[in-house]
Amino acid sequence: MNINEFEAKKILQSEGITVTSGSIAQTANDARRIAEQIGYPVVLKIVSEDIVHKSDVGGVILGITKDNIKGEFIKMIHHTQEKLPQARIQGIYVQKMSKLGIEVIIGIKNDAQFGRVVMFGMGGVYAEVMNDTTVRILPITEDDARQMINETKIGKVLMGARGKVYDIQAVIDTIIKVSLLSDKYNVKELDINPLMVYDVGVCAVDARINI
Ligand code: ADP
Ligand code: MG
Repeated sequence: MNINEFEAKKILQSEGITVTSGSIAQTANDARRIAEQIGYPVVLKIVSEDIVHKSDVGGVILGITKDNIKGEFIKMIHHTQEKLPQARIQGIYVQKMSKLGIEVIIGIKNDAQFGRVVMFGMGGVYAEVMNDTTVRILPITEDDARQMINETKIGKVLMGARGKVYDIQAVIDTIIKVSLLSDKYNVKELDINPLMVYDVGVCAVDARINI
């Protein structure tokens, strides 16, 4: 069973992982009300079990303000219906726009041979192309998680390769929390991509879970 971004973030939050606030809107007025509650700027995202890479189909718009939220809401619905007439659309997720950080990916997969594994690496929409990831068979310790970060290029950036140091401990904690919840919920597959990493703290900005 595929769990959409909104529901997946609820699970992450219940396990102590910080996520973007927000809610799913059915109408442009809904969207405006949600945005006023969480505060501008917001991000609009298409919610559809038939769309995996939302940004590839114009399903992610960043930096929405109160002046363009209604127009962009309507445009996103129309564009998606035009481009993917078969896609079932559950609504539009109105979420808080996170400040810019370093984008990493944390994933869970079930390997036929090794069982459940956890993955860490460079995140963002080009994650697959960049191919800067490392995996471990679960369960893992905090030391394992630290080593995973150390052996990736993006980990070097987090450790200060460009002069700025990021919250490595928060990343380690998140890798451990994701590993534990994958056991608890018997997860087949999970992706947090991206997890934004800051000098203090992290935030899960996109997530999907398959249980
Ligand atoms: P998908 O992976 O399905 O294309 P994402 O939700 O990951 O869509 O969004 C694509 C990119 O947009 C992310 O990698 C991130 O850079 C940016 N982004 C998405 N949501 C937010 C947000 N709430 N705040 C800031 N940036 C975001
Ligand atoms: Mg993503």
